[in-house]
Amino acid sequence: MSQALRPLFVTVTWGAGGSTATKSLELAEICQRQLGLTTCLHLTCTNMNRALIDEALEQAKVLGIRNILALRGDAPRSEEYRDEGQTPEQDSNRDFTWAVDLVRYIRKQYGDYFCIGVAAYPEGHSDESHPEHQDPTRDLPSLVEKTKAGADFLMTQLFFDVKAYDKFETMLRNHESGAFKTMPIIPGLMPIQSYKILLRTTKLSHARLPSDILARLDAVKSDDELVKQVGVQILDEMVEHIKSRPDVGKRGFHFYTLNLEKAVSHIVEDCNLIPQENMGDEDGVIVETTPAINLEPPQNMLLARERRRRSSVTSGTRNRVIISHPSATKSNHSYEATEEEAGVLRGPINTRASTLAISEGEGSLGREATWDDFPNGRWGDARSPAFGEIDGYGPTLHVSTTQALKLWGHPVDKADISALFRKHLKGELEALPWSEQGLSPETSTIAKQLLALNAKGWWTVASQPAVNGVRSTDPVFGWGPKNGYVFQKPFVEFFLPAAEFHALKTRLDAHDQVTYFAGNANGDFEASSEESVNPVTWGTFAGKEIVTPTIIEAVSFRSWLEEAFSIWREWQRIYPTKSASGKLLGQTRQDVWLVNVIWGDFVQGDGLWEFLGA
Ligand SMILES: Cc1cc2nc3c(=O)[nH]c(=O)nc-3n(C[C@H](O)[C@H](O)[C@H](O)COP(=O)(O)OP(=O)(O)OC[C@H]3O[C@@H](n4cnc5c(N)ncnc54)[C@H](O)[C@@H]3O)c2cc1C
Repeated sequence: MSQALRPLFVTVTWGAGGSTATKSLELAEICQRQLGLTTCLHLTCTNMNRALIDEALEQAKVLGIRNILALRGDAPRSEEYRDEGQTPEQDSNRDFTWAVDLVRYIRKQYGDYFCIGVAAYPEGHSDESHPEHQDPTRDLPSLVEKTKAGADFLMTQLFFDVKAYDKFETMLRNHESGAFKTMPIIPGLMPIQSYKILLRTTKLSHARLPSDILARLDAVKSDDELVKQVGVQILDEMVEHIKSRPDVGKRGFHFYTLNLEKAVSHIVEDCNLIPQENMGDEDGVIVETTPAINLEPPQNMLLARERRRRSSVTSGTRNRVIISHPSATKSNHSYEATEEEAGVLRGPINTRASTLAISEGEGSLGREATWDDFPNGRWGDARSPAFGEIDGYGPTLHVSTTQALKLWGHPVDKADISALFRKHLKGELEALPWSEQGLSPETSTIAKQLLALNAKGWWTVASQPAVNGVRSTDPVFGWGPKNGYVFQKPFVEFFLPAAEFHALKTRLDAHDQVTYFAGNANGDFEASSEESVNPVTWGTFAGKEIVTPTIIEAVSFRSWLEEAFSIWREWQRIYPTKSASGKLLGQTRQDVWLVNVIWGDFVQGDGLWEFLGA
């Protein structure tokens, strides 16, 4: 991507409450120092040990990162978030309530060293205090405050409603305070990777999907390839529309890539956003990078760590800033430091033709690009950059605390937890902590079998039925291009008490159609074979190799395991530590195992349910 798309800078997200602190810093290091990309680190300030904020800023400085997107993160909740052993003095909420507090803190501690960006919301920020009433004018006072405190640029929430963006930008430029007259405003755009991901992310980010856009996608929603193509056209039109608006300086566009590059490659190519020899008058691209849950340090990480210590004297990239001279009053902003300032000469440039070829999967750089043909959430190929939860900022319940309490009440014993799982399977409960959506039509076909497991106190969080050669256009099981057939091995994943897991394990080990992975909150791990690689969904299409979008293997299970148990903790944290619900969830988290059972015989798929029901 660094070679092909030449982004102005990349951003690295930060898990709310510091949940991805180590991974975010590792990824930022890779972007900044190994790939030589100007990097902007997101940083939140609430619900964490405040030492993490100082560590992150110090580490960013050592790595030569000079750009921080200063954010609040989730609303402060000290009572629930206090880690064991954490003193009230270590609680970041003592000093940080809003993003502006972080902006002020960074300016106080580091002067102009960091170029600071802040979040802006063209359709209004949606918060617990007024979730039903998003209104960008409500956020204006705090946006002015963030700007006056020293922010250098605004980066917006993703949106599809360009009219709302137009209105927002005009409102800011004309604001009586003059705070935004020349302030770079970077619109956030999310390429459309799939119909399902689009609906999910717009719901989570509270972005409105205009009816004409929805209608165009509805018309092709059964064909994943067409959705992508139409999605690229929609984004092209949005970019061209925004480009045609007069602005005070060069425009930058921030793409929420979800770690997938194919769609974004097409958009930046179609819209002439890839810089030539020098920036000239062209507009530019910013891409967002989310730390993959399974991020492994590269083999030369030790070397990189060693180098980190020496970096402050030798690094050529450490001077890279997004805005050359932090100042809210300059009239002609450049979005990136000059080459001399950056200390890094530009490398040879890819031609546009080769950029597209790469995104189509050609050549050595393009080999991995085919991964995003059928992104498939957390059970996708664990080597894919899109692997894992790709729509949030670290493990999260995907709903606000108020909504969580409304959905799940105050469980006081295990029967209460079982009741929630049962209601979800019956379609009476919209979401569970591990699943923010209702039951899919596909899962509904095995609801009876799942209910039987839940009746035993085995709480199911993921599953799929067997499918043996169904048309790819099938409304329930189909996916991919329309000229094919799809297949699935059945699997189910559930939490169960430790004692019951040990009894079940003996039976799992003895059956030749079973592959399983299991683990608990303490890091204990069991598997039928750690090396087994289990494609559980595959498809055959005319003129294509067999496509395998869903593979379950130890590496993918382990990373989900960590996340699944973090979600128990997130749920626990909506209740005060000493409450009955807080205690129940804490104890349950410590006891249960998560087990994933895959049944090899997809032709006799019912065997899985008979085996587990016995
Ligand atoms: C581009 C972008 C990137 C993001 N990246 C991340 C990320 O990496 N990790 C992550 O966890 N989250 C991220 N977020 C989400 C963000 O943390 C949430 O939206 C959060 O709820 C608000 O953050 P903020 O920085 O906008 O907060 P703030 O600017 O503090 O605003 C939060 C809300 O409080 C109101 N408000 C602000 N100050 C005051 C005040 N003094 N009195 C009363 N009300 C006030 C505002 O109007 C707004 O409604 C991102 C959001 C955007 C738009």
